[in-house]
Amino acid sequence: MTSIFHRSPGASLPTAIGGQGVWLEASNGRRYLDASGGAAVSALGHGHPRVIEAIREQASKMAFAHTAFFTNEPSEQLAEFLANRAPINAPRVMFCSGGSEATEAALKLARAYHVARGEPSRSVFISRNQSYHGATIGALSVSGNPGRRAPYLDILAPCRFIDPCYAYRHQYADETPEAYGRRAADKLEAEILAAGPENVAAFIAEPVVGATLGAVTAAPGYFQRISEICRTYGVLFIADEVMCGMGRTGSLFAVEQENVRPDIITMAKGLGGGYQPIGAVLASGEVYDAIVSGPGYFEHGHTYIGHATACAAALAVQRTIEEESLLEHILELHPVLVDLLHQALGPTGMIGEIRGRGLLIGVELVRDTATKTPFPPEMKLAAAIKKAAMAQDLIVYPNSGCVDGRSGDHILIAPPYIAERSD
Ligand code: PLP
Repeated sequence: MTSIFHRSPGASLPTAIGGQGVWLEASNGRRYLDASGGAAVSALGHGHPRVIEAIREQASKMAFAHTAFFTNEPSEQLAEFLANRAPINAPRVMFCSGGSEATEAALKLARAYHVARGEPSRSVFISRNQSYHGATIGALSVSGNPGRRAPYLDILAPCRFIDPCYAYRHQYADETPEAYGRRAADKLEAEILAAGPENVAAFIAEPVVGATLGAVTAAPGYFQRISEICRTYGVLFIADEVMCGMGRTGSLFAVEQENVRPDIITMAKGLGGGYQPIGAVLASGEVYDAIVSGPGYFEHGHTYIGHATACAAALAVQRTIEEESLLEHILELHPVLVDLLHQALGPTGMIGEIRGRGLLIGVELVRDTATKTPFPPEMKLAAAIKKAAMAQDLIVYPNSGCVDGRSGDHILIAPPYIAERSD
């Protein structure tokens, strides 16, 4: 008998009691290889002394100082660290407690920007099918994940969706990757025109799709064209880096590899690497200045914005990633892991595609590799694989794909950056 309301009520879960490096320990005496870092959260693995010390030191100074009254050193330093590295013009950094909160703030910032500039008709958001931007009502409204939306459809805000850039399923056989990227991006222009450009506030996309599609990267030139379209129509481009950011793809920000500068970037998981719940939103100077010189105030805020202990932990995580050259390590490990996955899983005959970037790798499973036919959703294959893997002390992150057959089941492999070939 338990009083806790688990996310899967009734599930019988092992109790996590410790962790070291890439391993998690449970009270059942078993050690689990955390090959998905939970859900692409863990960056430095468990028990990193530098992060633990940063948390201990900051927590011993004070519990909490509300940001309506005070700023604090760790949040100022972390903001500086991120602003100095982000591919965004004159960035300003706002903190929050996780990915969904970051999405909420990004949507409201986009709206506040247009209102401040005297364009209040801009209230339409455009997102992509098979995307995930969070579980809160605003974030879920712009998430193209039919399963997660279904129970709440009546209370979601309106949003328009275009197809994602998903070459495995959408690129024509006689089409170059560049031509496909252009075709996929041009869908945004068509959608903006259909909505009326004067009504569109922002386009939100994951530079590497995480939870819903399993590490799908965009075709070459896709995001450059997206960026160009957004600029042409005065639409803000929000890059959701909650899962793919903070080093996960081998560059600190995933959009660095796309050569674009979004107006707003969100991040969370890898920011604190799981040591503390923390997220952040970076807004361009243009967005910030419009709000400051307009209403002068961004009508938004959560109690735990810029929590000093969370920021101290995140700062220690980020400094460690940089000082220990972990981005280079991630880039070295990528082909090794992809090769090992091909060797190990290829013979099953079920591997549609192994894809991704850095240590964000997706394995799409299909019933027929020639026709790319997914397994029937009622088989719940990904969930069964998660269970079978766990029975062998391995954590991988499952997703059952789309009920409408537009993608197959997939497994996400996203180990901590400190993983070694031997792991
Ligand atoms: N955005 C993306 C791209 C995500 O992958 C997630 C979570 O998986 C979120 C937002 C929501 O983050 P959180 O679960 O921290 O609220």
